[in-house]
Amino acid sequence: MAEIRLEQVRKAYGGVVAVHGVDLTIRDGEFVVFLGPSGCGKSTTLRMIAGLEEVTAGTIRIGARDVTELEPKDRNIAMVFQNYALYPHKTIYDNLAFGLRMRKMDPAEIDVRVQKAARMLGLEDYLARKPKQLSGGQMQRVALGRALVREPDVFLLDEPLSNLDAKLRVRMREEIARLHQDVGTSMVYVTHDQVEAMTLANRIVIMRDGHVQQIGAPLEVYDRPANLFVAGFIGSPEMNLIEGRVENGLFVAGSLRVALPAGTQASGDVALGIRPEHLALTSEADGVAFTVRVIEQLGAQTLCVGEAGGERLRILVDRVDSWSPGQSIGVRFPAAKLHLFAKSSGQRIETAKP
Ligand code: ADP
Repeated sequence: MAEIRLEQVRKAYGGVVAVHGVDLTIRDGEFVVFLGPSGCGKSTTLRMIAGLEEVTAGTIRIGARDVTELEPKDRNIAMVFQNYALYPHKTIYDNLAFGLRMRKMDPAEIDVRVQKAARMLGLEDYLARKPKQLSGGQMQRVALGRALVREPDVFLLDEPLSNLDAKLRVRMREEIARLHQDVGTSMVYVTHDQVEAMTLANRIVIMRDGHVQQIGAPLEVYDRPANLFVAGFIGSPEMNLIEGRVENGLFVAGSLRVALPAGTQASGDVALGIRPEHLALTSEADGVAFTVRVIEQLGAQTLCVGEAGGERLRILVDRVDSWSPGQSIGVRFPAAKLHLFAKSSGQRIETAKP
């Protein structure tokens, strides 16, 4: 087990910069998720940690060792990919044992490790099978097992669940979380799926265009997104973001007026953010008039898209059966739940504590 430290790690392909100077310390035993849209540089960063890509500049340390120039095989990492990359003609047992045999490990020790991994992953009954006789979820478990038997300092996982169907993805997500709890080894995990990041990570590193946008615990980035990009990327359904301006302690957009917490230091053009689950229902007399347009019943909750003061808003509330399109209801913008961002820079503006 070991801490991983990236210092000003940069990657350019010719003139194209894929990763601009990342500084990050991943604590021993931590589960860190790199999250961002396709092309933001998350895989490249992971592959630099693995040694599969050379860094253009910067230093990578694992534990006390500077591994920047080391071959992947000398870094004591294990990697799990989206395509399981199993040997089709070998049994599951041999797939799990292969890497250890290549390292000339004692067969008795190999057997101990393979049996232990198979037990942890529920693969005991499949050891004699070939990969094509397994389901996608089972194959991904074998891929995880192959990393597990190595007993590495760090697990690196690149979109490991994206080939699985939605239901299986949720189940495997739980298994990976449990595996991390059981082995306690640092894991670095790449995904574009913010739900996966929120549910698995101790800390999320949110990236865009090769730049780190924010690093924080899932609920930290949910509660205090550092900028408009993070605000829009984290949270499902997405945060409502309304462009407008601050006038005399009020947020103003069209005919919509929202009171900001007293003492908030902001002026000029801003974007106001409020999560769909934070808009509160109230009487029309006490709140802002909201016209219901589209109703999505999710079961326990109702998601509704509509308009208030000419602005499109989503609200998410405990199940309501009685709404119909065209109906007007009252909504409230609780001051403690408001987010403000400067329009020019997109950066968060702290609101006063109400
Ligand atoms: P992500 O994993 O976030 O989808 P990547 O790390 O794979 O993104 O890629 C980051 C950027 O680097 C992208 O713009 C991609 O096109 C570019 N890139 C990745 N690999 C190469 C390569 N081998 N040659 C040139 N450009 C690359």
